[in-house]
Amino acid sequence: MKFRASQDRYAQMKYRRTGKSGLLLPEISLGLWHNFGADHSFSSQRKVLRRAFDLGITHFDLANNYGPPYGAAEENFGDHFNKDFRPYRDELIISTKAGYDMWDGPYGNWGSRKYLLASLDQSLERMDLDYVDIFYSHRFDPETPLEETMGALASAVRSGKALYVGISNYDPHQTSEAKRILDEMGVPLLIHQPKYSMFVRTPENGLFDTLGRLGVGSIVFSPLAQGLLTDRYLEGKVPKSSRAAKGKHLTPQKLSDEYMSAAKRLNEIAAARGQSLAQLAISWVLRQPTVTSALIGASSVKQLEQNHAAIDGKPLTPAELEELDALAKHGMV
Ligand code: NDP
Repeated sequence: MKFRASQDRYAQMKYRRTGKSGLLLPEISLGLWHNFGADHSFSSQRKVLRRAFDLGITHFDLANNYGPPYGAAEENFGDHFNKDFRPYRDELIISTKAGYDMWDGPYGNWGSRKYLLASLDQSLERMDLDYVDIFYSHRFDPETPLEETMGALASAVRSGKALYVGISNYDPHQTSEAKRILDEMGVPLLIHQPKYSMFVRTPENGLFDTLGRLGVGSIVFSPLAQGLLTDRYLEGKVPKSSRAAKGKHLTPQKLSDEYMSAAKRLNEIAAARGQSLAQLAISWVLRQPTVTSALIGASSVKQLEQNHAAIDGKPLTPAELEELDALAKHGMV
């Protein structure tokens, strides 16, 4: 059946300005790292993507090597795009990245101009797009001059293959340097993509301050700590279909006694606010003014809908924040 997007989709979402740019992003964005490779059916992927767009989620985040196998998420997304979303291209923000392992040999990893620009061409081909909205350097490369990596991002913009550029997993100093170099090239740094959740608070040690000062936005990944900040594992079991069952990026060993007691208490705090644990975790990252968007994953429409409802959560009170601080200090992941 031909996809017709819901008429009221923009009433379903709140949008935030990305740093000092002109670009608004939805408070919740959808990432395709997991659940969009060869191990998930095309129809389940399609349901999640369609529902996301109907809920006002205008931003889909990819990378060259999302799968499995590498490239599969972009290829699948290209199919979904052609079947469902091509008429809505101007309503979508599609991002991709290069910086981690992608292909064999010295030109398929890290931050050289050779790798980044070849990878962007490949990503465009897989997704059947003329351009991406945001192209990222996926990680800082200590062996490549930052001028070269940033120069590749600037070239992507000048060639019309990317509208904006971003960086991911850069520390505060690397971020300031990236911004300075891009400024000299006349290309703004739009956004940073760091890992941030109640269990991983690294960006609070200088990164958010730096981004605020530089006027750069942030989209925070794994705000649900890959499922640990949801009810997925609250019974102390590992459901067969869960990410922890696959054991690659999240292992059952994470379900320690310490984790279980913190997660149960977090769940009680969420329930007292009328939220699920996943919704509390999303409200918590969105409390930061420098956070533009919470970049979640979802393996089902049910999860997606639950997470989306977090945007209607009440502001966290000082007392709630204090207790969450104490629990989050356990540093579970
Ligand atoms: P999350 O922390 O949101 O984890 C998503 C997983 O949590 C889902 O796949 C699902 O796991 C579980 N989940 C989600 N919602 C619910 C719910 N309501 N109830 C129960 N379980 C739930 O994010 P991800 O780790 O998936 O990362 C999100 C995106 O961030 C990626 O797709 C990618 O775009 C980006 N990213 C970027 C990185 C970078 O280096 N720049 C690195 C990692 C991610 P299950 O499969 O068990 O159902």
